[in-house]
Amino acid sequence: MEIKQENRKWLDDMQLSHPIVIAGPCSAETEEQVLKTAHQLKETDTNVFRAGIWKPRTRPGGFEGVGEIGLPWLQKVKKETGMLVTTEVGNATHVEMALKHDIDILWIGARTTVNPFVVQEIAEALKGVDKPVLVKNPVNPDLPLWLGAVERFYASGITQLGVIHRGFSTYNSLHYRNKPKWHIAIELKKEFPNLPLILDPSHICGRRDTILDVSQTALDLNYDGFMIETHIDPDKAWSDAKQQITPARLDEITQDLRIRQESSSKEEFQRNLALFRRELDLIDNNLIDLLKDRMGISEEIGRLKHKENVAILQSARWADILQKMIDLGNKNGLNKEFVEKIFKAIHVESINIQHHVK
Ligand code: PEP
Ligand code: MN
Repeated sequence: MEIKQENRKWLDDMQLSHPIVIAGPCSAETEEQVLKTAHQLKETDTNVFRAGIWKPRTRPGGFEGVGEIGLPWLQKVKKETGMLVTTEVGNATHVEMALKHDIDILWIGARTTVNPFVVQEIAEALKGVDKPVLVKNPVNPDLPLWLGAVERFYASGITQLGVIHRGFSTYNSLHYRNKPKWHIAIELKKEFPNLPLILDPSHICGRRDTILDVSQTALDLNYDGFMIETHIDPDKAWSDAKQQITPARLDEITQDLRIRQESSSKEEFQRNLALFRRELDLIDNNLIDLLKDRMGISEEIGRLKHKENVAILQSARWADILQKMIDLGNKNGLNKEFVEKIFKAIHVESINIQHHVK
């Protein structure tokens, strides 16, 4: 499958200039909240108004969206403000209702992208209607699953496509609600350079104060735009209150973002250098995360051995690990001394940790 330059044309047709700004509440709550938010957003750089009509909630009992009665509110937004409107569809019935109410762009939520049966059902419901579809990444960091969803839509004749990076669920992340995996989005861009790539910093951050920073990173990585949850009274939002911002704050953020200009070859060099450095920084951060996890496991092993009164140093196992890593390193073009040095250091630290557990 090849996404061609012409598959981006819908951005021009819909006059979505760079960076695209999709904003609006996590959920449509009342007609008044929807319209008030939209009128305030109209005064910002927002090109597309978003609102969730059907909400996929982790546990039952939460607010699951207003449902079909909210769709005419979106039509009103379009009529009164001229903004395009978008909502999430999670099954074929949603598609049918969204089409009936002339929603301009549809998006596929993270919990839907994980399920090829549902993606296929939605793709089939959309056959013959070439509406733009934005596919959020699946909850888990699985690039083929993400691409697979895009491919299902493409195969169904939906040629106006885009993807949204909304971060990936992790068991324990201190800083993010859903951890961004910049390299996955970079890989995706490598495979489909013409596929519009949008960042959803709201679901990545899960809070308000880091949205600008994460959005800047995306711009530096050539993202095409943003989807940002915005509410007239964020603290009182019926869903995702902690991460929603006011239209006024959204305006500040879009003003503060440094949008890179078309540039000379020297600037091109600086830009590439900055991109590579950012990738290096991300890998280094991952190395620290991995080391933290590895040491955590050493600690658990230490506890087990302590309980069973087993010696900490298991020489045969250690010799075996070291040799395996040297061989693997060799296969991957890494110098033997280098790999040896690193694993010896890791081993020493691991033994230290095991000594200190009780
Ligand atoms: C949303 O955009 O409100 C939403 C539910 O997003 P996600 O599918 O990324 O969790
Ligand atoms: Mn939300």
